[in-house]
Amino acid sequence: MTKLTPRQILDQLVSFPTVSRDSNLALVEWLESYLAGHGVRCFRHWNEDRTKAALIAHSGPWVPGAVVLSGHSDVVPVDGQDWTSDPWTVVERDGRLYGRGTCDMKGFVALAVWAVVEAQARGVARPLQLALSYDEEVGCTGAPPMIETMQQVVPKGDIALIGEPSGMKVITGHKGGTGYAVHVKGYEVHSSLLPEGVSAVMEAARLIQWVNDRNDAIQARTPGAVGARFHPPFTTLHVGRIQGGTADNITAADCRFAVEMRCVPDDDIAAHAGAFRDAAMELDRALKARRPEAGVRLDKFFDVSPLRPEADGAAEALARVLTGDNATGVVSYGTEAGQFQDAGYSAVVIGPGDIAQAHQADEYLEVSQFEAGQRFMERLLERCA
Ligand SMILES: [Zn+2]
Repeated sequence: MTKLTPRQILDQLVSFPTVSRDSNLALVEWLESYLAGHGVRCFRHWNEDRTKAALIAHSGPWVPGAVVLSGHSDVVPVDGQDWTSDPWTVVERDGRLYGRGTCDMKGFVALAVWAVVEAQARGVARPLQLALSYDEEVGCTGAPPMIETMQQVVPKGDIALIGEPSGMKVITGHKGGTGYAVHVKGYEVHSSLLPEGVSAVMEAARLIQWVNDRNDAIQARTPGAVGARFHPPFTTLHVGRIQGGTADNITAADCRFAVEMRCVPDDDIAAHAGAFRDAAMELDRALKARRPEAGVRLDKFFDVSPLRPEADGAAEALARVLTGDNATGVVSYGTEAGQFQDAGYSAVVIGPGDIAQAHQADEYLEVSQFEAGQRFMERLLERCA
């Protein structure tokens, strides 16, 4: 089987429209046969209904201590976006590679695939692994089960490099987050009989006020040393949308809203989430006491661990040697890095491209960034030789 260049691999990857709501199996099948054709051992982790799979690949000796190159296969939709050229075909114009996912993050994945094939061909002493997840763009829910499967099918790696777009800068921290969809169920009566009904809208307002009070309490505190590196330097809780009620003179039967929490790494997101759940359950009991039909229901819709800057972290040290970048960097977007860290890997974010181009119409990756990414992989291969 002929070896492909990173650019040829990128062309292939972008040609699969792996929007999160759809299957990624066509991409996984192509990639698996390409890797297997070059002697790289591959394993799949399936989602529950077997419509998607994560791909885990190992090249080099069958020993622990691998450097894991981590990416996600899914991309955000192109619906309603005005693209100059076909989003599923990589087009090079003015030193840029246009296409959905070129920046976030099939550019990095193409480089990672190239590197694991090279590692197998050249024969490295330190193994390289590829971890390609699904469902990253819908709340980072795909990586934790994939990481669990990795512990069983390949020797445990030490370092995880998460290739989200960072302009090839070493990112050692990011915020974590979690979100709840809240459904307050009320009881409809004519509004003139208010005490006999339950207004879901008015009861939801109590929980939203809880969110406001929590923000006030958080912001009254002095930010921690890690938090101080972020903008804003504290955890935020936010209600972005709300829906409820049918008429001015009916107590609302339903009110739905969503609360998302973005947490600095030295704050305790579980404590905020737990306190919110407690408040919701307390309201649930109070409403049910008035009307058994009423109540509060919570559904967690995303959960991303923060990336905590490590003291003398192995991933940071390696990434700094490979890039020469000694600046400290944190970002405000979430990635799978914290989830690798939770599983015992040393982790940093480092990848080609600018997050500003992610998710946009005419998403692109600068050719110079793609080339910088390839030089990074070359140096990584030398280090692992
Ligand atoms: Zn991404």
